[in-house]
Amino acid sequence: MTLKGKTAVITGSNSGIGLGVAHELAKAGADIVINSFTDTDEDHAIAKDIADTHGVNCRYIQADMSKADQCRALIEKAGVCDILVNNAGIQHVAPIDEFPEGKWDAIIAINMSSAFHTTAAALPLMRKAGWGRVINVASAHGLTASPFKSAYVAAKHGVVGMTKVVALETAKEPITANAICPGYVLTPLVEKQIPDTAKKYGMSEEEAVEKVLLERQPSKEFATTEQIGGTAVFLCSDAAAQITGTTISVDGGWTAL
Ligand code: NAD
Repeated sequence: MTLKGKTAVITGSNSGIGLGVAHELAKAGADIVINSFTDTDEDHAIAKDIADTHGVNCRYIQADMSKADQCRALIEKAGVCDILVNNAGIQHVAPIDEFPEGKWDAIIAINMSSAFHTTAAALPLMRKAGWGRVINVASAHGLTASPFKSAYVAAKHGVVGMTKVVALETAKEPITANAICPGYVLTPLVEKQIPDTAKKYGMSEEEAVEKVLLERQPSKEFATTEQIGGTAVFLCSDAAAQITGTTISVDGGWTAL
């Protein structure tokens, strides 16, 4: 399986799942566009590392996924986008009656609306190229809910819904649109929560992982960024050409409960 000659644009890809997906797609031969809103030396070093490690072209393009015009500008600057991975995301946890309005707006913008803007800008490029893959990194929270995550759950359900619409609008073309729905993945974001959770519950870090963080993940194991990346590579393969408008859970059984 080679993705040589294809270019993948991955939003929010200077850490965690986005970075893992970038490495797996590059390993399969795709040229890569890395994105975040930060534009640091480290961001450019990450792009160089991907290029050097996998022998592909890799560019860093700064764009803030909370801004519609910057979402579209990311795709315009990339110039080519055969594979679009909508991954940028943030989280905030609070009861709905205390949920800050600004956090609601930011989560809806970054986790959901950005995928609308990038997809709208990328589809003409995919049509021109005669091939395309839209891969939305949703969540188990795109299929189920948890308390205190109103904005995140709403945004992720929204992404799953939009994925189906994109699939229907492109059904007769060599373009597919799907959502990957991870359970808990051990990213820097989640790693940071382990000591705090252990302290809060008076548990060891191991207990905090099993009894609190992975409470709803029956495998009691984190999914890995490589596994999410591998799922993205599969969705780009010929075997997946008729898989469109659906969700693929990578959640250790969470949504089977
Ligand atoms: P992370 O914090 O490591 O990565 C988030 C990425 O989004 C970073 O690259 C960050 O730079 C980028 N980002 C944030 N705000 C941005 C903005 N305004 N513009 C551009 N980029 C921005 O977290 P992660 O765990 O890797 O999460 C990545 C995606 O996976 C998110 O959509 C998240 O909802 C989803 N997800 C994560 C998990 C998990 O357990 N880690 C589970 C399910 C779904």
